[in-house]
Amino acid sequence: MNTTAPQQDSTQAFDLLIVGAGMVGAALACAMADSRLRIGLLDSQPLQPIPRATTPSGFDPRVSALSAASEQILKNLGAWQHLGPESVSPYRSMCVWDAEGTGEVRFAAQDLGELRLGHIVENYQIQNALLAQLVTSGVTLLPGLTVQGLVREDTGWRVDCTDGQRMRAPLVVAADGARSRLRELAGFAMREWDYLHHAVVTTVTLSEPHQHTAWQRFLPSGPLAFLPLPSRGGQHYCSIVWSLLPERAQAVMALDDAAFCAAVTEALEGRLGPVLAADQRVSIPLRQRHAKHYAMPGLVLVGDAAHSIHPLAGQGVNLGFLDAAVLRDVLCAALARGESPAGLDVLQRYERARMGNNLAVMAAMEGFERLFHAQALPLRWLRNAGMKMFDQAPMIKSEVMRRAMGLSGELPTLARP
Ligand SMILES: Cc1cc2nc3c(=O)[nH]c(=O)nc-3n(C[C@H](O)[C@H](O)[C@H](O)COP(=O)(O)OP(=O)(O)OC[C@H]3O[C@@H](n4cnc5c(N)ncnc54)[C@H](O)[C@@H]3O)c2cc1C
Repeated sequence: MNTTAPQQDSTQAFDLLIVGAGMVGAALACAMADSRLRIGLLDSQPLQPIPRATTPSGFDPRVSALSAASEQILKNLGAWQHLGPESVSPYRSMCVWDAEGTGEVRFAAQDLGELRLGHIVENYQIQNALLAQLVTSGVTLLPGLTVQGLVREDTGWRVDCTDGQRMRAPLVVAADGARSRLRELAGFAMREWDYLHHAVVTTVTLSEPHQHTAWQRFLPSGPLAFLPLPSRGGQHYCSIVWSLLPERAQAVMALDDAAFCAAVTEALEGRLGPVLAADQRVSIPLRQRHAKHYAMPGLVLVGDAAHSIHPLAGQGVNLGFLDAAVLRDVLCAALARGESPAGLDVLQRYERARMGNNLAVMAAMEGFERLFHAQALPLRWLRNAGMKMFDQAPMIKSEVMRRAMGLSGELPTLARP
């Protein structure tokens, strides 16, 4: 690793500049670290290990449900090995049910011949694990720099930062998240719409074990998810994501702790007993965004910069890791053939490989969200009948689960064992 100290008006040149060292940008930097490219990874954050949360539970509210494909990618990048057993929570089953009826679907890893469906991991732990890998790589870390300008030059792009520093690279990757500044500066056209939902996120202490199950109840006001966290000191914890209309989210945020615990217990129908305690709550407005293209000459979008979707299915970062893994395959193949990795035709191979998959997942989430929001009686009947039929169709259920786990379809090299 090389770390540069901020200097006034200096210009640094790279072959590949990745803007954004969130989970996706950091994974891409790890994935490209052994190429012969000079790589810079820039972020406005300090890029130092993030300390453990100081919340009462000790868990950070931002967690991800990682698919088997993401686990494999992180293993192949050498990052998974930095995550101790106390920081990953495998879940073996999933239970999804409708608050307005009797429809219920259960997924079990053993039905697929697997040990688990996935893992719940705090985002900062994933980020720290990737950073630990980058520290021993040849990637130049560029911490504490915020991009504010982008200029097209003959040989590529010039990226201007708020403190006057400039970077030049023929190939720039925008991994700077859902509100990507680079995407905006480059002028990528977007489709975006409001879900009219806010996600209330926190960690709760349970009175009963979570049974290593991810629980999701669809309420008329929106879905509520309980994601199992590692048990600590004999206590059982879940990370919760409760999607609500903004005014309802505001009301839930305003409840005192006891009233919030009672409300969330009732919303989950008390399936895990009374909720005993909750950390501070965070409310996040949900918006779906999708770029109409991911590539232009010398510039490409990955992760949430390309697409951000409803957290309902827990797929956002899983799609982002697949973006990074596919882009790595495309760039390495181009380098092996002697092509310029910054060429539009090369970058469009990545766009073609990922856009269909990302759109399909986004459309499925959109359909789910609308179906469970519907209050009309025929739709409610259809929803409940459909869930029961689906639950009793093992072949279809297993295919859906395999897809969600990233175990089917054509996989990039890093997602293969
Ligand atoms: C409530 C909730 C629950 C979720 N649950 C799941 C889940 O269970 N499973 C799942 O797969 N996904 C989940 N997601 C989605 C997941 O969190 C995102 O897909 C993921 O964090 C995106 O990662 P990223 O690296 O693309 O972007 P980010 O994490 O947003 O990282 C972007 C980085 O770019 C940097 N940056 C931004 N602008 C600039 C700039 N101008 N200059 C320099 N640096 C900049 C930022 O500092 C940051 O480090 C959830 C999302 C939400 C909101």
